[in-house]
Amino acid sequence: LTVIASVEPRISDAIRAELADQRGSLKLIASENYASLATLLTMGNWLSDKYAEGTIGHRFYAGCQNVDTVESVAAEHARELFGAEYAYVQPHSGIDANLVAYWAILNAKVESPTLQRLGAKTVNDLAESDWEDLRAEFNRQRVMGMSLDAGGHLTHGFRHNISGKMFAQHSYGTDPESGLIDYDKLLADAREFKPLILVAGYSAYPRRVNFARMREIADAVGAVLFVDMAHFAGLVAGKVFTGEENPIPYADVVATTTHKSLRGPRGGLVLATKEFSDAVDKGCPMVLGGPLSNMMAAKAVALAEARTTAFQSYAQAVADNAQALADGLLRRGARLVTGGTDNHLVLIDTTTFGLTGRQAESALLESGVVTNRNSIPADPNGAWYTSGVRIGTPALTSRGLGADDFDEVADMIVGVLTGAEPVTASTGKPGKAKYTLTDGLADRTRARAEEL
Ligand code: PLP
Repeated sequence: LTVIASVEPRISDAIRAELADQRGSLKLIASENYASLATLLTMGNWLSDKYAEGTIGHRFYAGCQNVDTVESVAAEHARELFGAEYAYVQPHSGIDANLVAYWAILNAKVESPTLQRLGAKTVNDLAESDWEDLRAEFNRQRVMGMSLDAGGHLTHGFRHNISGKMFAQHSYGTDPESGLIDYDKLLADAREFKPLILVAGYSAYPRRVNFARMREIADAVGAVLFVDMAHFAGLVAGKVFTGEENPIPYADVVATTTHKSLRGPRGGLVLATKEFSDAVDKGCPMVLGGPLSNMMAAKAVALAEARTTAFQSYAQAVADNAQALADGLLRRGARLVTGGTDNHLVLIDTTTFGLTGRQAESALLESGVVTNRNSIPADPNGAWYTSGVRIGTPALTSRGLGADDFDEVADMIVGVLTGAEPVTASTGKPGKAKYTLTDGLADRTRARAEEL
């Protein structure tokens, strides 16, 4: 930090302040974690200065032998950890990984009259002038993923994301009573919509997915099964999700972030069967530019850590702690979407406390409890204010908290939500994040958070 301060002190100050914030509050955002010191250190080094567009042993730049080593080791760990036929570790983020996956599937599967007319093998061989026709052909392709308010991600076909613009899309929701995926309805919808790609995976669904059922549905309609395991990759890696809950044996292509429950550096990776490996390998130049070699190195380190029995114990503790948190919240009167959890996150319906998700998020933050507001199914308050907060256990489990600690966390959360009074705008709309908190409650809760 002293070196950084000598160049730009505002940045060293922000880094120091971030460390203090992360130490002094309860980090309960379901997509966050604490990477190990080895992983953190691997992110900041001279590998960052090297250009290496291309693939292992086939680069568009000279002198890439060390990057080849880094990428090979990371891919080897990814393949062996997940039992995948092929791994591509270049994507810079989860969104990049999903885009690489989508374009790989389009490349491998779309029978294009334009391509046939041109006699070209892949879209990479096309001239610029052919793109108009091709875009129209690809735009007719269909993707079917979970809707945002049921817990899906923007990249699963949301209209304001490129996935919703690249494809015709139809989303599936969850059963209005149980909040669970209704696989029979999903099959019926898929028969009608006939997607090229069926997407399974989520950002805010507090349950496990049956990937054997997803495979059956994909097969019944001739779709490619693409799984986005960004949120639960750590639970797959740690062998908490096995059998039908492990997507790898069932999916054609799997993408993930590396920084959530997997506890690695910020980034993404794609796993695929042999059928799709060549197409995924073309992520650069199709979607990506030069890989971030330092980040691939950090992925290798984190993936090596994830292959240890210590990581398996960690992953089990993440799930056990989520259970303890859900039990503690329910016992204290909170309503949870789906009635509980069997993964790493819970979704509290904040309307039972008379609060929007945004009010709840702000009241909790003021009290040292960091969560994020999140839509719930059929959300009455829309995607900005929302009616829920999403709470995850991966980060605090990394800090060593156990089931008893999470029961105390549940007590703190319900205490704050009960002590928060909404202030409704005169328009009758949910209003900005206005609320009042019982005197001293925020300070008392923050003191408990710091102790934990
Ligand atoms: N996929 C899922 C399911 C996610 O939850 C997220 C991030 O929240 C992403 C993809 C995108 O990851 P990133 O933010 O690294 O682009």
